[in-house]
Amino acid sequence: MHHGIEKLLLLGAGHAHVQVLAQLARQRPADLDVTVLTPYPYQTCSAMVPGLVAGRYSEADCQIPLDPLIRAAGAKWLQGRCTGLDAAAQTVMAASTGKNKELPPELRYDLLSIDTGAVIDRSRLEAEMPGASERALIVRPTEVFASLWPRVLDMAREKPLSIAVIGAGAAGLELLFAAEQRLREAGFQATQFTLLTGDADIAAHYPAGVRRRVLRRLKQRGITVLRETCTGIGPQGLQLGSGATLLCDVPLLAIGAHAPAWLQGSGLALSDTGQVLVNAFQQSPSHANVFAAGDVCTRADRPHAQSGVYAVRAGPPLAANLLAAHEGQSLKAHHPPANTLNLLSCGAGHAIATWGPLHAEGAWAWRWKDRIDRAFMARYTPPATAPRADHAQPQPR
Ligand SMILES: Cc1cc2nc3c(=O)[nH]c(=O)nc-3n(C[C@H](O)[C@H](O)[C@H](O)COP(=O)(O)OP(=O)(O)OC[C@H]3O[C@@H](n4cnc5c(N)ncnc54)[C@H](O)[C@@H]3O)c2cc1C
Repeated sequence: MHHGIEKLLLLGAGHAHVQVLAQLARQRPADLDVTVLTPYPYQTCSAMVPGLVAGRYSEADCQIPLDPLIRAAGAKWLQGRCTGLDAAAQTVMAASTGKNKELPPELRYDLLSIDTGAVIDRSRLEAEMPGASERALIVRPTEVFASLWPRVLDMAREKPLSIAVIGAGAAGLELLFAAEQRLREAGFQATQFTLLTGDADIAAHYPAGVRRRVLRRLKQRGITVLRETCTGIGPQGLQLGSGATLLCDVPLLAIGAHAPAWLQGSGLALSDTGQVLVNAFQQSPSHANVFAAGDVCTRADRPHAQSGVYAVRAGPPLAANLLAAHEGQSLKAHHPPANTLNLLSCGAGHAIATWGPLHAEGAWAWRWKDRIDRAFMARYTPPATAPRADHAQPQPR
């Protein structure tokens, strides 16, 4: 049991933490002092970013404003990033990202919850693909990507572009189809699109039937597929594993994400790939006062895919366990679903739905995804800014 005020520090305002804040708004113990350290005044729903690229959503449609949630929870917002963590000393190192540079460099906590998502580690990227961190339009952070995307449209007004998407996973494919649709609809018919698959298959984590559907769609849209690895990016374009150069104006990088480098040396138990290990209570097995959810962590007992839906599902149990840990009560296990419905958008207006081995596609699947995503946003957005509310389930992948 604790005595006096206990400090709960929430790192990141990811999909699970918006729900923790909503729960704290309903029930915050008077002896719990809550601080949120996160770089932006909003949380971006990355599942909606392809719709933003396709021109179907505005930036505001894809953002949950954090101020109302943080105020309602009686919490304090520090605008910044976590840059280091010492789990033994119960201290987080922070760097300001706002105008106000007066962020304390070290933040003490009694209870810590981490939901900072996955990152693309620029130094790792640079070692693997020299030139990429400077020249590529990188999908993460999605906030930066979303703010830079309009420049591609400006460039397309100047001359016919060659756009190459590096990475044939779900995010790369969705962005590729969305960009192709947007530029063609805007009348830039001469734009050329290439998909670089690297060593992996297209949509490698999907059943073979879904991969065939994706390939068919790529062919219909006139997108060139190169089963090549990008080994570097220079002023002319992409250097390929075969030794060739692909001339390219916009390299759009959507390779798999990394664990944040600041977790190394934190003292927390980490997975082989550097994520925070958590048990069935979303709690660190090495430090009982540290919890985590979303792409930043890996369940030690039953690892699952990293996706928005798992981050969202972990939110309510995480909130309950943080409150239970504070009260000194027993924690409850969270059971992530074995299967999730996956809706892969192929440009706004069309999506492929996958459930285990079953799959189908059509405009209905896109409408379904749109409804689900908007409903999740509306649930955590004050009515004045909410785009539309109907359902209350997250869009799964
Ligand atoms: C283009 C694209 C499309 C996608 N589509 C889908 C989809 O349709 N369905 C689906 O299920 N999944 C989808 N995903 C994956 C999904 O977005 C992620 O799995 C999900 O966002 C993970 O949620 P999270 O809460 O772990 O982290 P995030 O949503 O990434 O949230 C992390 C939060 O932490 C903050 N933060 C980051 N670093 C720090 C730091 N150092 N200190 C403090 N705060 C920090 C961020 O600003 C943010 O607020 C897509 C991903 C991409 C890139």
